Amino acid sequence: MTTFRSFINGSFVDSASGKTAPNINPANTTDVIGTIELASREEARRAVESAYDAFRGWKATPAPARGKFIGRAARLMEDRKEELSAAITREEGKTIGEARGEVQRAINVVEFCAGESRRMNGETIPSELPANFAYTIKEPHGVVACITPWNFPIAIPAWKLAPALVAGNTVVFKPATLTPLTATLLTEIFNEAGLPAGVLNLVLGSGSEAGDEIVSHPAVKAISFTGSTETGLKLYTQVAPRGVKVQAEMGGKNPVVVLEDCDMALAVESTAQGAFGSTGQRCTATSRAVVINSIADEFVEKIVTRAKSFRLGAGDDSKTDIGPSVDEGQLNTVLKYIDVGREDGAELLCGGKKAEGDGLDNGFFVEPTVFDRVTRDMRIAREEIFGPVLAVMRARDFDEAMLIANDSEYGLSSSVFTNDANSMYRFIDEIESGMTHVNSPTTGGEAHIPFGGVKNTGLGAREQGSTSLDFYTELKVVYVDYTGRKREGNLY
Ligand code: ADP
Repeated sequence: MTTFRSFINGSFVDSASGKTAPNINPANTTDVIGTIELASREEARRAVESAYDAFRGWKATPAPARGKFIGRAARLMEDRKEELSAAITREEGKTIGEARGEVQRAINVVEFCAGESRRMNGETIPSELPANFAYTIKEPHGVVACITPWNFPIAIPAWKLAPALVAGNTVVFKPATLTPLTATLLTEIFNEAGLPAGVLNLVLGSGSEAGDEIVSHPAVKAISFTGSTETGLKLYTQVAPRGVKVQAEMGGKNPVVVLEDCDMALAVESTAQGAFGSTGQRCTATSRAVVINSIADEFVEKIVTRAKSFRLGAGDDSKTDIGPSVDEGQLNTVLKYIDVGREDGAELLCGGKKAEGDGLDNGFFVEPTVFDRVTRDMRIAREEIFGPVLAVMRARDFDEAMLIANDSEYGLSSSVFTNDANSMYRFIDEIESGMTHVNSPTTGGEAHIPFGGVKNTGLGAREQGSTSLDFYTELKVVYVDYTGRKREGNLY
């Protein structure tokens, strides 16, 4: 039986807490992957201190030299791609195809960040004064906490760890307790890439204890968080008095808007992919389909047929389209929302219950579910469900569709289906989301393109792409006066 332990100052360490948690395959609960030794506050503190002690040396390492370690990590990830993909499928439940895609995304991000180490440029700015030179330098913060969820157990850690390290910060990585195997493999890989001891520390422990200890520690200068809105905003408030920088990627309620002139087959297929792919457990998953009345009956009929055609099963079976919810708690949340949808008066068209039989009994499977005639006030139109549940909302015309689409506290991703260029550009102008897609699913993104949301979804600088180092660096502004004389001019 595998034991998962925290990694502090270059070694895996025992926990003083004596508390453990099992790591279970959500497709088959009789498959126990291992036991996590949950870190106590003591290990969390030691992890921060070891990152603090390693900071001076890491900051003094030239950025391109830091990038060499990150580049090596990308190559090691490539070598271990199958092992990483299998680990994700086994502990998170997504299909092996989805897991391979996620690992490739993580490799791409790490490669991109290795390259960014050679582009940590500042600016030179002409001074108002003669014989004066002004420029900027990018500097790291110090110890950064990277707190991650279970739904993308390698891609999200990769897109936080790699830019944090390239920028010269040292890191305390606190992954979700549901996915310790992937987090351990990623930490091993960065260690094998040669990172000096203390530069990257892994804390496997609960959010309320180990996580709380990390974010409360005065040496932690910045926190990059992905997870629920509730936890993200709580963390933000908790550390605000210390002036800690926070970047948070939180909930979503991503809409597709389906207009009359769309390619119907494409709209249906892309909506199904966005709503049911990865079991709906993506922050960018499609959860609302806002459809113009005149084509709504046709859309609904086709999306229901498609939803019923998916094959549920274990992610390592090549015939499986959709894996399980990640654990019993998540399964119950999804089932609760299905009940809420019914009680609020939405029309349940398919799915709506735990899937059983056919090898599914030992897993947390939910049937792909479609509700029709969902209205803006219903909870299933407003709250993030994080499961394979789609709410169809009917709209009179373009304007009403936009009103519905934007009636959300969240704003991560969105999509429009249309063949009319004017409608497409109007949609792009009016939609309130950090990312939007045209004639393609709400999901997906590329390693070298910024990622993030507006409204209650996102806080702080965008992750990934040209903006990936923004959150992890401070700007130092330098004025050099080489006149050798007392300043005569006025400089306010
Ligand atoms: P999810 O449902 O995606 O796991 P959460 O917001 O519950 O979303 O958790 C995201 C991450 O935040 C996890 O790694 C979790 O352990 C961590 N976390 C939860 N509560 C706290 C806290 N009070 N302090 C620090 N980290 C926390």
